[in-house]
Parts: sequence; C-alpha cells; structure tokens
Amino acid sequence: MSGHQAQQTIHVGGEWRAAASGATRDILDPADAKTFAVVAEGGVPDTDAAVEAARRAFDHGEWPHTPVTERAALLRRVADLLVRDREPLGLLESRDAGKTLEEGRVDIDCVADAFRYFADLVVGEGGGRVVDAGSDDIHSVVVHEPVGVCAMITPWNYPLLQASWKVAPALAAGNTFVIKPSEITPLTTVALIELLVEAGLPEGVANIVTGPGHSVGARLAEHPDVDLVSFTGGLVSGTKVAQAAAVTVKKVALELGGKNPNVVFADACATEEGFDTAVDQALNAAFIHSGQVCSAGSRLIIEESVRERFVAELARRAERIRLGRGTEDGVECGPLVSAEQREKTEPYIAAALAEGALPRAGLAR
Ligand code: NAD
Repeated sequence: MSGHQAQQTIHVGGEWRAAASGATRDILDPADAKTFAVVAEGGVPDTDAAVEAARRAFDHGEWPHTPVTERAALLRRVADLLVRDREPLGLLESRDAGKTLEEGRVDIDCVADAFRYFADLVVGEGGGRVVDAGSDDIHSVVVHEPVGVCAMITPWNYPLLQASWKVAPALAAGNTFVIKPSEITPLTTVALIELLVEAGLPEGVANIVTGPGHSVGARLAEHPDVDLVSFTGGLVSGTKVAQAAAVTVKKVALELGGKNPNVVFADACATEEGFDTAVDQALNAAFIHSGQVCSAGSRLIIEESVRERFVAELARRAERIRLGRGTEDGVECGPLVSAEQREKTEPYIAAALAEGALPRAGLAR
C-alpha cells in the first residue's frame, strides 16, 4: 500500500484514515496463519462518515453528470493501472486469499477486463434512445440514470474480482459508492481504491470501510442514505442484508452460495481426448482455489457405464495435485482461506464418511 500509513485503510471523502475507534485487525497469510498486514477495523461511525461522503459526492458532485465518454476513459485508465500493477496485485491476492500466484495474476487480468468491458458498455448504452412506440405522436425515451449511493459488500474467495464486478459498472453509470470487502481479505480492494484515486476519480465518489459484516456491513444495508446494496456472500448474511435493506426499500442485488453439479454423459467420453477433457474439467471445477468457488463443481453426476473408469482417473489425478503455499512455484492448490473455514469444512467430510462415503483420494492414503 502506498500514499498512506498501513493501518489507514478506510477511505472517506478523498482522505485515508484509521478507524475512529483506533481498532485494527491482523490480516493472516492462510499458508501459515502469520500476520502479514494490519488494517483498520472500521465500525458504524466510519460507515456513517463514508456514506455521508458518498451522498455528498452524488448529490452535489460532478461525477453523476460527467459525460459517459469521460467516465469510460477513467475506467480504461484504471484498467491500464491494473495491468501495470499486475505482479504486486497478483501476489497480494495470492497471499491474502491463499490462492496460487497464477490464479492471483489471472484474477487481476479479469479485473482489468471488467473495467474495459463496462467502459465499452456505458459508451454504447449511455445516451437516451427513442423507441418506436407505433405512432408518430408518441415518443418513448429510455434514459439511463445512476441510482445514487451504492453499498457493496464482498466475500473472501475472489476479493478483487468480486469488487470489480460491482465497482466498474457503478462508476460507469455515474454512481458513488462505499465498499466493504471481506474482513479477512481486504488488501487488494484497498489497493483498487488507490488506483481509482491515481486515475483521477473525484473525491467522495469511491469510499471504502474495512471492517466486519455485523457492524459495517449491517449498517450499510440499513443506512437510509444508501440507495442500492450489492452483496455477494453466503445465504445467512444475504438474508440479513435483504431484510435490513427492505426497511428503506433499497434496490438489492444478492449473489449467494451455490452447490453445483457437473454432469458427464458416456458419449462425451467416447474418445480418449473427450474422456481426458471431461476428467480435467471435472477436476478443475472441484479443486480450483481449493474448491472455494461459488460455482465450484462440487458434485459430479456420471453416466453409469463410464462411472468406474471416470472416478478412478479422477482420484488418480486428484492425488497428484501439488498442495502448498500459493506463492510457491509449482503449487497447484493453496490452503483454505482461514482456520474458521477449515473448521467449517472438516465436519462435512466427517459427516460424509459417517454416512458411508468411500474416500478415493486424500483420506484413502
Ligand atoms: P459471508 O456471507 O460470511 O460474508 C460475505 C460478506 O458479507 C463479507 O464482507 C461479510 O463481512 C459480510 N457480512 C457478514 N454478515 C453481514 C451482515 N449481517 N450484514 C452485512 N454484511 C455482512 O460469506 P463469505 O464466507 O465471506 O463468502 C463465502 C460465501 O460467498 C459462500 O457461501 C460462497 O458460495 C458465496 N459466494 C457467492 C458468489 C456468487 O457470485 N454467487 C461468489 C463468491 C462467493
């Protein structure tokens, strides 16, 4: 992080701050559970200050009225800065979330792509459009307007990618925002705010409060000056966000957890190449980022005639996945993101074994 002290990770109205309470949080490297960064542990007063800044910037600032071509140009500058900082940002994402360095780099590429995508989209869709209403006397015009102050709450598995899918479209459309990244993986989102400042975004448009869900997140969801909440995370928290946001009838977007099957039919395995691809894709779907993906292929449904061969090959390849610290050369699968996640995951394995599941790799050793 640059331009401010390490623990000043709250950005409000163009200023980097520590938490009003002075509280901090250690950010742990999932590979060894050692502290490698310290951030501000924001609370309700920090959140209120951030919302006030975003409100002011929306109601009285220039950003909502900036021509779409200029907003798009800023988004493209941010994409260029992301490309410039690909290595340090990829490394930061890898250390913060425990993913492999290569995955961290690919995430940053996708984040840059998202900024370019929404820059193109807003230029294409930015103006009013007359729709043929079937009569010369009737003129229908579609005008795209920003919603206002957007609150964004993101999870730990794809910290910056999840942030970019909220930040880039919101900025492209002329909104202002307050983002609250997951309390355990906030670092690249803080870095993104630095890049937005560097790219020339006006003060107060982009605000960040690092801190926990039960205070910062909950306050954002209920705050009367927030117009829209975009949340990605688990079902339990998402339900609370929807309930809190309903009181002031905010617009709400929720992306919640999944439990997705991959389906493999025998005809897909009719050739060696087809079989190989299907096994590879099933392996990747289940184990990328140690399976901590909302769209992970966590169940596999296989046509009976190819089941035994498929499972045997899948188990053989799963055994060979190189586990380790995400930043080490050759490692294919990093650690789970936190001890808390391990404690959540292990009982599922125990329950499956108790119900008669047959381990074919890992535990089978
Ligand atoms: P989580 O629900 O615990 O936390 C997500 C975010 O919500 C965090 O920033 C957290 O601080 C905040 N939060 C927690 N309680 C809150 C509250 N009461 N009010 C407001 N905010 C609150 O989820 P997580 O463990 O960080 O993330 C993993 C989950 O996210 C998994 O269920 C995964 O499937 C899901 N996920 C879904 C998608 C998707 O696109 N559908 C993508 C990634 C992750």
